[in-house]
Amino acid sequence: MARADHFDVIIIGTGAGGGTLAYKLAPSGKRILLLERGGYVPREKDNWSTKAVNLEGKYQTKEVWLDSNGDPLHPHTNYYVGGNTKFYGAALFRLRREDFGEIKHSGGISPAWPISYEDIEPYYTQAERLYHVHGQRGEDPTEPPASAPYPHPPVSHEPRIQHLSDDFARLGLRPFHTPLGVMLDEQNPHKSRCIRCETCDGHPCLVYAKSDAQVLCVDPALEHPNVTLLTNAYVSRLETSPSGREVTTVIVQRNGATEAYSANIVVVSCGAINSTALLLRSANDKHPRGLANGSDVVGRHYMGHVNSVLMAISKCLNPTVFQKSLSVNDFYFGSKEWSYPMGHISFVGKLDRDTLRAGAPAIAPGFTLDLMAKHSLDFWLTSEDLPDPDNRVTLDREGNIVLAYQPNNEEGHQRLIAKLKDLMQQQTKCQEHAHECHVGLFARSLFIGQRIPLAGVAHQNGTIRFGRDPKTSALDVNCKAHEVDNLYVVDASFFPSSGAVNPALTIMANALRVGDHLLKRLR
Ligand SMILES: Cc1cc2nc3c(=O)[nH]c(=O)nc-3n(C[C@H](O)[C@H](O)[C@H](O)COP(=O)(O)OP(=O)(O)OC[C@H]3O[C@@H](n4cnc5c(N)ncnc54)[C@H](O)[C@@H]3O)c2cc1C
Ligand code: SF4
Repeated sequence: MARADHFDVIIIGTGAGGGTLAYKLAPSGKRILLLERGGYVPREKDNWSTKAVNLEGKYQTKEVWLDSNGDPLHPHTNYYVGGNTKFYGAALFRLRREDFGEIKHSGGISPAWPISYEDIEPYYTQAERLYHVHGQRGEDPTEPPASAPYPHPPVSHEPRIQHLSDDFARLGLRPFHTPLGVMLDEQNPHKSRCIRCETCDGHPCLVYAKSDAQVLCVDPALEHPNVTLLTNAYVSRLETSPSGREVTTVIVQRNGATEAYSANIVVVSCGAINSTALLLRSANDKHPRGLANGSDVVGRHYMGHVNSVLMAISKCLNPTVFQKSLSVNDFYFGSKEWSYPMGHISFVGKLDRDTLRAGAPAIAPGFTLDLMAKHSLDFWLTSEDLPDPDNRVTLDREGNIVLAYQPNNEEGHQRLIAKLKDLMQQQTKCQEHAHECHVGLFARSLFIGQRIPLAGVAHQNGTIRFGRDPKTSALDVNCKAHEVDNLYVVDASFFPSSGAVNPALTIMANALRVGDHLLKRLR
């Protein structure tokens, strides 16, 4: 085993959490090693091919996990520099202020966080700047108070989406511009890095205009001579001192060889499922249930949101190219008829025939997949799932990841779907085609919905929760392991509850918050 240098900080994983932390710590001059199991996403035309990306899963890991029945699970996740932010839809939301407190859902309690919204607010503002978020304050009825405006104006709606937004407003809702991390300059299109294409959500950005952790954090961090990145460096195990109180060695598999590194501070940021797997693999005499797992919470409380894609197919074509500009949060905390939270309505990137073939929904009568895609508005609905200790990541005897998950808190989600169906049936005449969009070919509008299956682990979080009580959490409020003095976790695992908006901005903001703590500690 080759023994390499000692570092001040090792960060394992370069996604939303690890990449952002690297950016924050880089100017300190401290010696920082980034270990990333993947390489760079190759820049090639296939980046923007829906056939390559969605149908053939070209960039997705080929790793196989297991579900609770022992059946194979092909996770929709990606191992690259920048992590899943290379592929995300870049909808960058703050959690609501209320999400930090306890919230009663129809399916149970969403627990409070050990920090308040006010504690993390300055870091949300920093993260919005760092990730070039485009948005408009004051539109979203549930948005929390912010200490600064969005750094960039909102991404404008194309006509079909503007029409829908106007319709929603006429029905008494407060639709708003989705906060988006794309480097789009609509005032100076010739200078804009982003060309506003249809292959954003789920795709890497060929022209590096998406606000991802590689482009905006890892690459700039590497300009500092004190920061080193090793790619294709899979961390297989963390070893501790005899007391178990500090990580002494980080074991890495790279280029067919085993290497060992050490650091004063070790930060795990492999994503909520892989960070769990790493801690469980690192069990030893002092940590028999897995590293930092005296509480037995590591791997438990897995959450991933209750998500659905709902296609509303109408007689009108939907010629929208960039569809993800509109959101609705009016039912986030409930409605007049239902006092429990329902969730968030927004869009996925425009679906096309090849994407539909990958997860083929029922074909609408008289339609082909191609025709369906051309006539659909493609909604993304998210509701909160609650942290159930039995929804859990474990390892089998061979070390394979096992993901056991029973959906919960589903009634709010079903009610959200019903709300959207109802709203879509009340649409006005289509301004473009001068007829009723949602009558004509069909007696009524046609909705085709698909719940995201277990393999859809895009929003994974919650498995290594932070908290004040070491009996019920693995990390303290600074995301340091209660039981290990130099071990931190900064990916989505620290969430004690997940709210119903997309998670990445909260992961980024928290990494900046933990970064401040680490800078003080490293002084
Ligand atoms: C298609 C898609 C669309 C999405 N859209 C949105 C969106 O619009 N808005 C939003 O907020 N969120 C979105 N998400 C979710 C968002 O991308 C994630 O929440 C976020 O990237 C998670 O950050 P993380 O730091 O926890 O993990 P990741 O970003 O997944 O980073 C983990 C990193 O660790 C590396 N790693 C794993 N194991 C090891 C190991 N053993 N050794 C070394 N390295 C390792 C991985 O390769 C990866 O680089 C989307 C995700 C997907 C897949
Ligand atoms: S050019 Fe813009 S819309 Fe297209 S993938 Fe890149 S960031 Fe997304």
